[in-house]
Amino acid sequence: MLPFKLVYSDAYYLPIGQHVFPAQKYRLIYQRIISSGLAVQTDFLEPKPAADKDILLVHTSEYVYRLQYGMLSAAEELAMEIPYSEELVDAFWLAAGGSILAANKALEDRVAFNVGGGFHHAFPNHGEGFCMIHDVAVAIRRLQKDGKIKKAMTVDCDVHQGNGTAAIFGNRQTVERNLPSWGGLDPYVGKAAVAEADPTDVFTISLHQANNYPVVKPPSSIDINLPDHTTDEQYLSWLDNALSSGLRQFTPDLLCYVAGADPYKDDQLGGLDLTIEGLKQRDEMVFRAARAQGIPVMVTFAGGYANNVEDTITIHCNTIAAAKEIYGR
Ligand SMILES: [Zn+2]
Repeated sequence: MLPFKLVYSDAYYLPIGQHVFPAQKYRLIYQRIISSGLAVQTDFLEPKPAADKDILLVHTSEYVYRLQYGMLSAAEELAMEIPYSEELVDAFWLAAGGSILAANKALEDRVAFNVGGGFHHAFPNHGEGFCMIHDVAVAIRRLQKDGKIKKAMTVDCDVHQGNGTAAIFGNRQTVERNLPSWGGLDPYVGKAAVAEADPTDVFTISLHQANNYPVVKPPSSIDINLPDHTTDEQYLSWLDNALSSGLRQFTPDLLCYVAGADPYKDDQLGGLDLTIEGLKQRDEMVFRAARAQGIPVMVTFAGGYANNVEDTITIHCNTIAAAKEIYGR
């Protein structure tokens, strides 16, 4: 039995047909966890779909309405890169409910997993890159609303930048401000756009391949733009750097770890050179840093497109194994 919970449902399956996104991966992870003895049935919790009012803490009512009534434009569906269906909407609402449940369990048990989620490319008003609803942001906003946390940190180790996360929690905003008037006979009052720090409650860290989707990368609190073919050693040193810098500046009540499997060297959509062992060391580094400061961790799995889907499953299961080693002591 694990010292923490795994949130999972068979209905996490994304009905998207033949696709580079292995929609069956959640079920495969679940099966591997059980068959390998990593966890037992009682370690799992079944999620409920998020309520619309939770989704609306992050997404605009126009977007939610268009999703629920099948009114996305062709361009919007194209940007999402997965085919729209009502069942797909249900799967994303369920993933968001799973992240809310996992975040709550993380506060109780120091760590918890949503065996799904991590849809970090969803924006308040549109979906992108296989992501319709930003489950992690929904969970953060819901826990803040419930008064369970004040501040959160996202640590995004997917190979693709967390553009949705950065857009939702962007700690720089552009404001229109009156310039001071000139003295003298002809006073002039102008307006200027000023970018300034918002009193931020969510600190966002993203380590990603610079030369990859998304082309436009809205600023996170810390962005590490890694060159192609970054190795284990280089990656771990940057991660160490980013974690210590972030945790020096900011003390979150919850850390949301987006544990993408796609920095793997044999990934179809990634260009970094991490090994399966290096990725497990990455997981351990995040858990150790959080545990040392007593910060609860909620984990989501995000992307993973290895040529051999079994490698993706291994990388995700290793994240659970890493937590078991670090929190089991
Ligand atoms: Zn990715």
